[in-house]
Amino acid sequence: MIARLEGRHIVGIMSIDEMPAGPEIDRLVAVLMGDDIAVLSGHRWRQDEAGEVDLFACESDPHNGPLCTRCRGTYCVHCGKVPDEKCAPSVRSYSTDIARSWLVAERMRLMVFPSKGGWAAALVDRVDGDNGEPPHADHFVDASLRIFARADTAQLAICRAALKAISA
Ligand SMILES: [Zn+2]
Ligand SMILES: [Zn+2]
Repeated sequence: MIARLEGRHIVGIMSIDEMPAGPEIDRLVAVLMGDDIAVLSGHRWRQDEAGEVDLFACESDPHNGPLCTRCRGTYCVHCGKVPDEKCAPSVRSYSTDIARSWLVAERMRLMVFPSKGGWAAALVDRVDGDNGEPPHADHFVDASLRIFARADTAQLAICRAALKAISA
């Protein structure tokens, strides 16, 4: 039973290492980052000071309309278009956008460094021989690399390591 459970655990970790950059891994990372990405029925229109829906929240003469504070959706009150009732905020491109992925690395306290022609991200307990040089794989003792992921890009390595960290 223990062996089977361990086997499933390992399979789960391996599948994260094989996930490509794209919407699937972005969505998983968004969840761990606490992003509000739930698909809701109905928008949260920005309100004016009187508490009414601000019909000029989005304006481009001669068009104007409200703006959803969740999904940034809008429509023109003059053109008569019916807005999509589903409020579905777009998921941030964590696995491709370096600025976004860096927020993940900071939140998860990941070290990011070049590795074998690609990039690695690791959850480290300590850095041996820290002499102020940029981090490199050689600076870490294997035992200190609690969670480790490698990918062609730093963005993807960060996303994989972050998901492994919460799955471990
Ligand atoms: Zn219009
Ligand atoms: Zn919305």
